[in-house]
Amino acid sequence: MFEKILIANRGEIALRVLRACRELGIRTVAVHSTADAEAKYVKLADESVCIGPPASNLSYLNIPAIISAAEVTDAQAIHPGYGFLSENADFAERVEKSGFVFIGPRAETIRLMGDKVSAKNAMKEAGVPCVPGSEGALPEDPKEIVKIARAIGYPVIIKAAGGGGGRGMRVVHTEAALINAVTMTRSEAQAAFGNPMVYMEKFLENPRHIEIQVMADNFRNAVWLSERDCSMQRRHQKVIEEAPAPGINRRTIARIGERCAEACRRIGYRGAGTFEFLYENGEFYFIEMNTRVQVEHPVTELVTGLDIVQAQIRVAAGEKLWLRQRDIEIRGHALECRICAEDPFKFTPSPGKITNWHPPGGPGIRVDSHVYSGYTVPPHYDSMIAKVISYGDTREQAIRRMRIALSEMMVDGIKTNIPLHQDLLLDPHFVKGGASIHYLEEKLAAREEAQRK
Ligand code: ADP
Repeated sequence: MFEKILIANRGEIALRVLRACRELGIRTVAVHSTADAEAKYVKLADESVCIGPPASNLSYLNIPAIISAAEVTDAQAIHPGYGFLSENADFAERVEKSGFVFIGPRAETIRLMGDKVSAKNAMKEAGVPCVPGSEGALPEDPKEIVKIARAIGYPVIIKAAGGGGGRGMRVVHTEAALINAVTMTRSEAQAAFGNPMVYMEKFLENPRHIEIQVMADNFRNAVWLSERDCSMQRRHQKVIEEAPAPGINRRTIARIGERCAEACRRIGYRGAGTFEFLYENGEFYFIEMNTRVQVEHPVTELVTGLDIVQAQIRVAAGEKLWLRQRDIEIRGHALECRICAEDPFKFTPSPGKITNWHPPGGPGIRVDSHVYSGYTVPPHYDSMIAKVISYGDTREQAIRRMRIALSEMMVDGIKTNIPLHQDLLLDPHFVKGGASIHYLEEKLAAREEAQRK
């Protein structure tokens, strides 16, 4: 096992990784920007290194600064968390070439999965069902593009091969709008991701977002750790996640889960990963793979009783997978609400000082957060300040516990989206379970309309 790990991230996930290390008896190095110098997890770490000014590109994305921090502190491995450099194949390669272990898949796997066109091709070959669409990237010839769209059938969605974070996508409803949409997505993709390649998929009108968590070792052993339903989204960003997915029979889930584990064995996947699917009319369609730990991993931890971050560290240290598929049992139900420093109606960021912080507690409640009374939410980074996770024997109990938790929670000094979560937890569609990925947007549009009248 490693003796010392450097955590190349910030916020709640830096604290989450730190806790996993402490439980495994591993010493930790926190790296931070000047904006995070006072963070609690920086003080809790055995050592800390300032890697630059607040702007991410000069600190948390600064590869040479992070590698030198690992060198001067004699760390053996680097945990990238999520976001920032976690899915950057060049970073993974530099880490390993400098003699450290990257806690994640091999650089070539990240590269394969980071390009959505090559990822889809690899998954098709591995027998994972994909959204019907173009064979790889779209050609230049407009006539060919029109032909491809006709074969798929409108509406279609144009997606950037290098896209991520919900950006680089455009829905097209008619042939008249097609070529213009392709041209615009291409130039946006070039500007945002440095890669103009785009591809086309059937736009599914009413799907749910269901994802499968996997864990694999360095010896082609892989298991799948249940599914999550992340259909409550705003601007393609997840708001509430849950496990298991309500109303889908276990046999259907097991079939797709086994496909994902098999795909991991085939491509020699290592570490934690997530296969994201759209689910419509009883069918699963692969959209992309995330080659890192996800924000919503705690709901899976609560229903399986496993520690995903510790498992990542153990397989990275070369341990053979100690879990067999038949040992993995799903018990109860878990929900996660992402609490963000933002206006609950207008969604504008609300950074600033938290004057009063009272997190909830009680049976079945877990709060993953790095904040405290007197903490200042910096304006430079993602607005998520906490994840409230509830667990119950049933979905009803998990929802009830979450309602109570949020009613107890106090965050003064800044605005948060807690009122939005409270509204959703009483929404009949959410309570029933199985709403589509468009539901929240439709609800918000209706709310805005009602306010205008
Ligand atoms: P990103 O990497 O930017 O997160 P994804 O490919 O995972 O992009 O897609 C993000 C979201 O966009 C999905 O969760 C879904 O809401 C929507 N989406 C993507 N592809 C389709 C599609 N073919 N049909 C309908 N919605 C889609």
